[in-house]
Amino acid sequence: MSSESDDAVKTICPYCGVGCGIQIQQGADRGDVNFRPWGDAPVNEGRICIKGGAATQVIDHEDRLTEPLIKEDGAFREATWEEAYDRIVSEMERIREAHGPDGMGFYGSSKTMNEENYLLQKLARRYGTNNVDNCTRMCHASTVWALRTSLGAGAMTNSMEDLEAAADVFWIQGANPGEQHPIANSQYFRQAVLEGATVIQVDPHANKTTRSFDIEETDRHMHLQLNPGADIPLLNVVLKTILERHEAEPDAGWIDEEFVAERTEGFEHLKETLADFDKEEAAAEAGVPLEDIELAAEKYAMANNAAIFTGMGMSQHTCGVDNVQNEINLALITGNLGKPGTGVNPLRGQNNVQGTSDVGAMPNVLPGYQLVDDDEARESVEEVWGFEVPDEPGLTNVEISHEAGKSVHGLYVMGENPVMSEPDGNVVEERLESLEFMVAQDIFMTETAEFADVVLPATTWAERGGTVTNTDRRVQRMRGVEKVHENTKHDLEILMEVGSRLFGEEEFRFDDVEAVFEELREVCPIYHGMTYDGLGEEGLHWPCYEKGDEGDQFLYEDSFDTENGLGRIEGVRHQPPAEVPDEEYPLILTTARLEEHYNTGTMSRRSPTLSRQHPENFVDVHPNDADRYGIEDGDTVTLRSRRGEIEVRAQVTEDIKEGVVWTTPHFAAASANRLTNDVLDDRAKIPEYKAAAADIAVTVSD
Ligand code: SF4
Repeated sequence: MSSESDDAVKTICPYCGVGCGIQIQQGADRGDVNFRPWGDAPVNEGRICIKGGAATQVIDHEDRLTEPLIKEDGAFREATWEEAYDRIVSEMERIREAHGPDGMGFYGSSKTMNEENYLLQKLARRYGTNNVDNCTRMCHASTVWALRTSLGAGAMTNSMEDLEAAADVFWIQGANPGEQHPIANSQYFRQAVLEGATVIQVDPHANKTTRSFDIEETDRHMHLQLNPGADIPLLNVVLKTILERHEAEPDAGWIDEEFVAERTEGFEHLKETLADFDKEEAAAEAGVPLEDIELAAEKYAMANNAAIFTGMGMSQHTCGVDNVQNEINLALITGNLGKPGTGVNPLRGQNNVQGTSDVGAMPNVLPGYQLVDDDEARESVEEVWGFEVPDEPGLTNVEISHEAGKSVHGLYVMGENPVMSEPDGNVVEERLESLEFMVAQDIFMTETAEFADVVLPATTWAERGGTVTNTDRRVQRMRGVEKVHENTKHDLEILMEVGSRLFGEEEFRFDDVEAVFEELREVCPIYHGMTYDGLGEEGLHWPCYEKGDEGDQFLYEDSFDTENGLGRIEGVRHQPPAEVPDEEYPLILTTARLEEHYNTGTMSRRSPTLSRQHPENFVDVHPNDADRYGIEDGDTVTLRSRRGEIEVRAQVTEDIKEGVVWTTPHFAAASANRLTNDVLDDRAKIPEYKAAAADIAVTVSD
């Protein structure tokens, strides 16, 4: 597979889900790959954040893996590709023989492309297991569950362009686009605010989003600084306020009665759930003045078009599905769905986390979110693939990790770093140690790859082509320059080789990326109308069912994609986090990401520009807590939970509420995920990263 041009090529930023277009250009020295702006890129029109601008810095980093490695007697040695493939194939065959196909687990990667994740999940299913998952499990599995169940599709209902043009109110809950989706924040949200829109931000932490809307007319920006894990009480106050006001003023437009009657079901259930609801008690639970929540409710309900943006502050809870369901309830009763400038819109974290799920790298769905236990859907995919797919959902990635050394004995990890990304990281390491065999394909020796038996050197995002799907369902093409290191291979080439050696050329050998996309669109109804060439430079928003479909800027204009076409309202009640403060651990620990770093930091920590901004982890502590614990700004402190401890620098700030401490997962030496709780939402199996009990003590005074 060759790259597509030897001059500057148009591609997509490898970091967040906004999907900004950039150009890259290779110099005379192959490793010299430079960033160039793409002035009329469809999503960002040439604008770029600090991460996007620094993205090419790690392509020729000295830490790149350049040869296959095999572990012998506890140490890695360089190996040939032939040796590495032989070892992988013989171990995978041995594990299937000894433990059955569910003895293996497969991790896809949202940092790789649709075609690569498509082939990985096909490999897992051909092996005979649905134990395949991706990092959407860690970020928006609960959002996808709620959206799919209650509206029809596990994705943004609207697109950024129509939102900027049409929304009067942006309700941003548990998301921090100023930090996580900087171009969406500056180009779409901030622009809309400058033109008169209102932003209501619901977040326990004051952050870059809060500051980016610090406008003169402060009534057009509200920050409801709630306690971590109190999203349901807060939204129930909003819903109850709307129900009460509607009863008092039925013609004032608090509730869209026609929409509720014709397009939804379950409104009575919501009313019953909130019948005896005590707003004052719930506002106290949320830690936000009741009158502020009531004012926010009024702004949302009275808007012509109001759009909800939802992030991991909502999804990463044991009640994540219910959190998002309550946002859906709010949108449905006010008729804020099925038209421009409205909807419930998850802001996806990685540049291809939407696509990785779209193409079926999940244990319960095949490409296009077709359920594995839906006989008709499964058989239609089997017909194209030519083999049978197991009809029971497999294990999620955290469940695979929990089962390591028990029912799972082998792991295939493509571009993921569960030692740092999964909660309770110390135990994740012990579990990986207990595996009989593990293969990791990556660009660097990650904290996870250290536990592998075979490590395969992959090419970076800049060295290959393929498609990725951004946060608003836009499928876009990435294009690559020449390989920087001769003996590295594209993820797709590796998967084709492993698949062909295990199951034959016919099922796993493809001429090029486009040929894989062709098979993908054949089995994936929402991509079916696309062609690789037809994606051009603009891309296409799914769903695209037939050739010629132009894709939808917003979903559900006439009906929802549920069985009866109705949007599902369902009242939900407060469920506190699984772990709440007590005498031993009196603080609430919550976590989030920084603009300058990216998830487990594998790439961003190696970028000089990004690393200079934030070279190490820190914890935000409220001044009153700092007084109580004798902490000065800049002190080194030990942050502890029931699962471990990390040493970090204290930052004393009123950005965080009293009783809450806030830190990040990006830094290997002191990752928040050494402390987080691996308890899961029952349905979506997402861990509760956003709330755990913690304690803090000064280690070294500044
Ligand atoms: Fe890349 Fe996201 Fe920044 Fe755009 S906003 S440049 S996609 S990190």
